[in-house]
Amino acid sequence: MVQLAHVPPRVQALRDLHALLDPIVLAGELHPSLQTDLVGAFEHQGVPYSIPRIVFTGPPAAYDTIRLAIFGGLHGDEPASVLAPLAFLERLASDPARATGYELAVYPLCNPFGYVFDTRHNGADLDLNREFWRGSKQPEIRVLEHELSVNRFHGLITLHADDTAEGIYGYTRGHVLNEALLEPALRSASSILPRDPRSKIDGWLARDAKIEACFEGVLSAPLGQRPRPFDLIFETPALAPIDRQVEAATTALDTILDEYRSFLAYAPNL
Ligand SMILES: [Zn+2]
Repeated sequence: MVQLAHVPPRVQALRDLHALLDPIVLAGELHPSLQTDLVGAFEHQGVPYSIPRIVFTGPPAAYDTIRLAIFGGLHGDEPASVLAPLAFLERLASDPARATGYELAVYPLCNPFGYVFDTRHNGADLDLNREFWRGSKQPEIRVLEHELSVNRFHGLITLHADDTAEGIYGYTRGHVLNEALLEPALRSASSILPRDPRSKIDGWLARDAKIEACFEGVLSAPLGQRPRPFDLIFETPALAPIDRQVEAATTALDTILDEYRSFLAYAPNL
């Protein structure tokens, strides 16, 4: 059983990391396809933190295993983005066939300091989602860049929650495959929370809740990785009830898995 680094009682009173991960660690004892590890341990002001990685291996398919990574909690004050990937994993543990042909590496808590203290930024007061592939010395970035470099995933999905959003939306980053996966994800998730109807979201032009542009330094694949993996950002409206946000995000994840699987099935015929 994986033990999280010791968290002092004062911090635990804010948000209990053990309570967060215990169910998934427990599920891993029942399901060998679910493995929890701590990939990054670091200290901030003498307090140790860790970045958990949970790998779920679905039943094998006739084709090569598709390796995806799912990220949550890059901004510590967006708990829906932490809870959704965990809820998704718990669902898969009880119905593994939904992940047939996939190996999913899930990083639900990319900014553990921010999660404990309910802050967007990390312990150095930096927005981690502006720090990728820019020579950042932040321990969270070094850990995640290492994971991205070593694993060279076929697809990346990052979850966020936006307190200015009027509904669900996402970033396609201008790539056709991203758009082809995001559109059905928004469609299925809109049965739980509506799409953000605005033509401008978070300062960007948006169409049908999809944004093509993106900030510099966001979590993405290593610059030299070819072919480029798909690379989606899915946002829930942070002011909506948290269980609805979690449900919308898990529905989106489910849909992306289905859509990408059928995309690969058709791709050889294109
Ligand atoms: Zn965010």
